[in-house]
Amino acid sequence: MNDATAPARTVRCPQCGGPSVYAPSNAFRPFCSERCKQIDLGSWANESFSLTEKEGQSDPGFEQS
Ligand SMILES: [Zn+2]
Repeated sequence: MNDATAPARTVRCPQCGGPSVYAPSNAFRPFCSERCKQIDLGSWANESFSLTEKEGQSDPGFEQS
C-alpha cells in the first residue's frame, strides 16, 4: 500500500472526538491540540507513563526518513 498521496492523516482525537492531524507537524497527536493532550495526561498522570517516548508505535506511514 502506498498512500504517499495523502498529505496528512486525520484521526479522531481521543479526548474531544474531533479531527486531529496525525502527522509530525502535530506535536500533540493523536490529540488535536495541546489542550486535549494536557487533559488526557492529567487523567492518567499517576500511571507515570511517558507518552513522549512512545512516538512511532502507531503509524509507520509517516516515518519517512
Ligand atoms: Zn481534541
